Amino acid sequence: MLFLAKFFRTVFLVDLLKGLWVTLKYTPQPAFTFQYPEERRPVAPRFRGVLRLQVEPETGAQTCIVCDQCAKVCPDELINLGGHREPGHKIKVLDYFDFNLSRCSFCGLCAEVCPTKPVKALIMSEDYELGTYSRNAQILRVDEMYDGVPIEHYTR
Ligand code: SF4
Ligand code: SF4
Repeated sequence: MLFLAKFFRTVFLVDLLKGLWVTLKYTPQPAFTFQYPEERRPVAPRFRGVLRLQVEPETGAQTCIVCDQCAKVCPDELINLGGHREPGHKIKVLDYFDFNLSRCSFCGLCAEVCPTKPVKALIMSEDYELGTYSRNAQILRVDEMYDGVPIEHYTR
């Protein structure tokens, strides 16, 4: 019986027709693909990309208060930062912020504990193009933390 069923499936090209039917069903629908890198797929609202430092949008002033909480909470100790206090100012000035992107698991703990309001000093951005040609380039310094990771354009 099983043999006969298989025989008829083969003779009447059932599997082939099933495959063609799936192709026909999807042909009129718009394409799901993007012409990367000209087109980039929008990310989900809670997407966790590479970390980014933010400034006050109106004044461009530093929002990080150099509290060190992000560095302390990171399970892999990937953040190193430091600052100094200037006379007459309550908030420290951020001198350096080194972040080792190469071992980050994008858990988001560092951004979650960042206490500044209303602008969070440390966020997980929407940047996902993080490849570099060297390991050194995976250590982001303070300027790159503000500006974002420069995108490498790969060539053959
Ligand atoms: S996202 Fe997680 S692993 Fe990456 S730096 Fe922040 S706390 Fe560390
Ligand atoms: S937790 Fe936020 S405010 Fe504190 S040092 Fe890190 S980035 Fe700066």
